[in-house]
Amino acid sequence: MSQSRDYRDNSRPDDVSSNRDDQQSDGGPPGMDPDGMIESNWDEVVESFDDMSLKENLLRGIYAYGFEKPSAIQQRAIVPCCKGYDLIAQAQSGTGKTATFAIGILQQLDVSQKDCQALVLAPTRELAQQIQKVVIALGDYMSAQCHACIGGTSVKDDIRKLEMGQHVVVGTPGRVYDMIQRRAFNVKNIKLFVLDEADEMLSRGFKDQIYDVFRLLPADAQVVLLSATMPSDVLEVTKKFMRDPIRILVKKEELTLEGIKQFFVLVDKEDWKLDTLCDLYETLTITQAVIFLNTRRKVDWLTDKMCQRDFTVSSLHGDMDQKERDVIMRQFRSGSSRVLITTDLLARGIDVQQVSLVINYDLPTNRENYIHRIGRGGRFGRKGVAINFVTSDDVRVLQDIEKFYNTQIEEMPMNVADLI
Ligand code: ADP
Repeated sequence: MSQSRDYRDNSRPDDVSSNRDDQQSDGGPPGMDPDGMIESNWDEVVESFDDMSLKENLLRGIYAYGFEKPSAIQQRAIVPCCKGYDLIAQAQSGTGKTATFAIGILQQLDVSQKDCQALVLAPTRELAQQIQKVVIALGDYMSAQCHACIGGTSVKDDIRKLEMGQHVVVGTPGRVYDMIQRRAFNVKNIKLFVLDEADEMLSRGFKDQIYDVFRLLPADAQVVLLSATMPSDVLEVTKKFMRDPIRILVKKEELTLEGIKQFFVLVDKEDWKLDTLCDLYETLTITQAVIFLNTRRKVDWLTDKMCQRDFTVSSLHGDMDQKERDVIMRQFRSGSSRVLITTDLLARGIDVQQVSLVINYDLPTNRENYIHRIGRGGRFGRKGVAINFVTSDDVRVLQDIEKFYNTQIEEMPMNVADLI
């Protein structure tokens, strides 16, 4: 007796999650397990943009944008994306997924053709606009046209811009579907379909809208999906519209405190932290330093105070727009600025990992952020020094951190500069 029922659609998400649990047993500090992971089935790593066989004018755009070296997810996912494979790429946010698919798209574009060749869907208008900017910037030397097709803008304008011809469209599902329905957006030459923040898009109310769009695309279009998490029910959904996708997981950076010398400086009063920092300034500029504070306002305050005292510092926090942030990050990365004052915003980014001195002007408000601020990815095996400013009120918090990470934080020695 043969069973012809298709079990796939009926299988419960639990089937996948049991599998997932197995993969998560590799420890790491608590609270660092992503909720839902895929298993990689692709292990090629390309450590330089030069070795990715990218078009010359795309490569120029990448370097001109300020990227020097691909991030972990970029090292793994750009090449299969360029080769046209269906792909699921999972990495935590802020690790460079946008540029990953932007490069994948640009590499495959034929700019001599006016048709739209790639469609990207994102959950919010802001994100769609941000992606559009990245595509335009990286594709600057290719003259790639990219349009953000999002709600809240004039429909007429949208139609006009689409009719002018756009190589890439980045949009939110509702408006994109509307434009296709109105025949203003011709999707018949789309080669590549990207879903950014796929976990959010496929688990929220967007699912049906995405299917609606997807059904209208050419059947052989490449599907690329990016996400910070991959809950099992979302993974299940992807089976409906992906063919044997390449799966790439870059695990949450397994941060370690190994090789990091950790010190504390006891100050009697909060007010004294400023003087302490100024005393340390020369030490800070030996290499480069990041100073963490807990609020945006305090970042602004400290930046002002340091500037008043003629110390050169730059600062970065979430109230600044992306462009401003990118400029500051670029200056810091190039070494032209050496001391960066910031909030935890940056702690989970990819860039701080290069820095060998971190100051916790404020101890982090939650202990998980301590390792994000000062820990290093094992892969890079970097050494570093961390200095914690503590008032007597903070001593218990510091002890709690020591216990939590099973590590030692000692009083800062006079010769700390020699250790950097
Ligand atoms: P995600 O999409 O994973 O959340 P983004 O693509 O927004 O991450 O990247 C986060 C930040 O890192 C952005 O400011 C981006 O310009 C920067 N970035 C991405 N890739 C690189 C790289 N290879 N080198 C330097 N900075 C990068």
